[in-house]
Amino acid sequence: MARIAAPRGTADILPDDARRWQALENAMRDVFARYGYGEIRTPIFEHTELFARGIGEDTDVVEKEMYTFEDRGERSLTLRPEGTAGAVRAYLERRLDTEPQPVKLWYAGPMFRYERPQAGRARQFHQLGAECIGTMDPAADAEIIAMAASLFRRIGLADYELHLNSIGCPQCRPAYVRKLREALEPVRDSLCKSCQDRFERNTLRVLDCKRESCRAATQDAPSILDSLCEECADHFATVRRYLDELGIEYVINPRLVRGLDYYTKTVFEFLSPVLGAQDALGGGGRYDGLVETLGGPPTPAVGFAAGMERILLAAEGTLRGEAAALDAYVATLGDAGRRVGVVLAERLRRAGLRAELDYMGRSLKAQMRQANRLGAKTVLIIGDDEAKAGTVQLRDMESGDERTVGVDEAVHVLQEKRGEK
Ligand code: AMP
Repeated sequence: MARIAAPRGTADILPDDARRWQALENAMRDVFARYGYGEIRTPIFEHTELFARGIGEDTDVVEKEMYTFEDRGERSLTLRPEGTAGAVRAYLERRLDTEPQPVKLWYAGPMFRYERPQAGRARQFHQLGAECIGTMDPAADAEIIAMAASLFRRIGLADYELHLNSIGCPQCRPAYVRKLREALEPVRDSLCKSCQDRFERNTLRVLDCKRESCRAATQDAPSILDSLCEECADHFATVRRYLDELGIEYVINPRLVRGLDYYTKTVFEFLSPVLGAQDALGGGGRYDGLVETLGGPPTPAVGFAAGMERILLAAEGTLRGEAAALDAYVATLGDAGRRVGVVLAERLRRAGLRAELDYMGRSLKAQMRQANRLGAKTVLIIGDDEAKAGTVQLRDMESGDERTVGVDEAVHVLQEKRGEK
């Protein structure tokens, strides 16, 4: 029969790889806990409207990239393309707004975007992220950035650049967008097709285009940083001061606008030179309007999200998954030996040890080879004689020493050995 392949843009994470994922997840849990963030797990799918309203109708994600389907009850549902909208929905629906503010949440899990798969871009990928909801304090912006930087430091990922910008607020941004449109009007025809489209509907995003020709055409565009209102300018200056005081290096990039509509004031992105064309490790910013857009009271917030596949790639040389060593391989010979061996392996596992045995009817010699391959520290050999006597042959694979001991003693010896590490 024909085999069925995995859908385009998805990946299988096999055990050898999964160890690196676990190492990243362990680091992430530890770092997020230090900063006082608690984990939130929201559904993988939500009502389509949550993303349409939250992310913005005129964004690439909502316009072209959502996995939207109708369920059997004819509701329009969407596989989440990002984590912020769901977290904010839960914040409102579960009345986290009545708890002491800010509410600090982190999440990690699969996200779905219908994009053209290429290196660094998948249709199912994973993000880790955090949201700090309920405060305007620029220290919260700095904290979110410092937390991401801490995670990178923790896994040895040092080769990246932090880009920082402010995209203002509903008070000051419209005037800037008008200024930008005026400045770009003369070069409008030389922009790529998507940018001509963006020019009409989401002008700010023209600045974000990666095409060389668009970059050249917009080179002399006015900087948004010259158009910030007093409140936004102060906020930005304070975020910068905190970052300076925390010793976090950054590059001011007035072209950084980010792809999702909900951002206000601070925006940032971590870029890695080893990632090629898709060089963003992650990013985020302040989104003071989103909670209200989703039906809540005016509530400031700031957050970030990073791609886990890209982090793992960028930390290739430094983040290793720990291969857990096997405490014991139980090698058996004959029916009686086999029966005792199966029970002994289970006993070792219940005692907290890692034990393995053969399931392929291998010869004793082949079982020894297998034990070696698996890196077993000790092999317990049980033939019919040992089974009858209630003993095992215990071979230390490092020294080659071999002796016969009672079953209880074997368990004890292995536990001692484990404890010595
Ligand atoms: P965004 O929510 O678009 O800012 O994405 C945050 C991060 O998620 C990006 O910087 C990437 O690291 C990662 N990411 C976004 N889209 C994809 C994708 N299609 N495949 C892999 N990683 C992605």
